[in-house]
Amino acid sequence: MHNVNCYCCSGKLFEDCCNLLLCGIIGASTAEELMRSRYSAFATQHADYLMRTTHFSTRKNHNSDDIMEWSVSNKWLQLEVLNASETRVEFKAHYQDTAGEKYVHHEFSTFKKEDGNWFYVDGLFL
Ligand SMILES: [Zn+2]
Repeated sequence: MHNVNCYCCSGKLFEDCCNLLLCGIIGASTAEELMRSRYSAFATQHADYLMRTTHFSTRKNHNSDDIMEWSVSNKWLQLEVLNASETRVEFKAHYQDTAGEKYVHHEFSTFKKEDGNWFYVDGLFL
């Protein structure tokens, strides 16, 4: 995990980028930063981080076993952030399933800041 480029495609090293958030060393300062770190969490199988950063109002719709399965059964190839406003991020996540088939997950996500922390609320799949 050392000296690898960050999975979120920021151009920084993983340990200087999303890993700081995944380890809880720093919190996301923007919705986009949280979104990027959640993509990296999928790429590195941090299901606990994905649950923790999902807003409590929608957390019941997710469970960490499903997240883990989705996370490990795909290879996470690339993230493209298309648009980011204060509380919304539109992105494309490129991934490959175990059969080698490539897919693009295009989502418009909504985030909410509470007590200084950003949370993922829900997403519209495009
Ligand atoms: Zn990153």
